[in-house]
Amino acid sequence: MLLTNHVLSGALIGALARRPAPAFAAGVASHFALDAVPHWGDWGSIRRFLQVAVPDGLISLAAMGTLATLAPAERRPAVLAGMIGAALPDVDKPAKLWFGRSPWPRVVDEFHIRIQPEASGRAHIELLAASVFGAAALAALGRRPVRRSGPR
Ligand SMILES: [Zn+2]
Repeated sequence: MLLTNHVLSGALIGALARRPAPAFAAGVASHFALDAVPHWGDWGSIRRFLQVAVPDGLISLAAMGTLATLAPAERRPAVLAGMIGAALPDVDKPAKLWFGRSPWPRVVDEFHIRIQPEASGRAHIELLAASVFGAAALAALGRRPVRRSGPR
């Protein structure tokens, strides 16, 4: 699943968990649960993978910064921990690209690859997931996706 969706679901987990350690643990678990859901992938070439992965990585960083900023101060540590935990298992992708190896034990990498039901042409699933996770994270943080103007 796209890193952006792991980050958004991690923010939701952090907003609900409210404490950093359980948010981090649940974030890591959520990564593998989401990767086991049918999603976009099966890129065919490293070039095609990078055409999606690079923007996805940049959007993920922007989402992390935005959600950390939007989180009320007392919930920010849990939100950050949830996002970091949810994103962490995919550190193997840039690590393989830049350093030629994954930081995880081989058994973890094999499990991570084996659980993925990926296919091309599923961008709509990722977009739907991003909308749901993003809106739910904002709602859990007490922020509306769209602010109404005018007096309350
Ligand atoms: Zn993954």
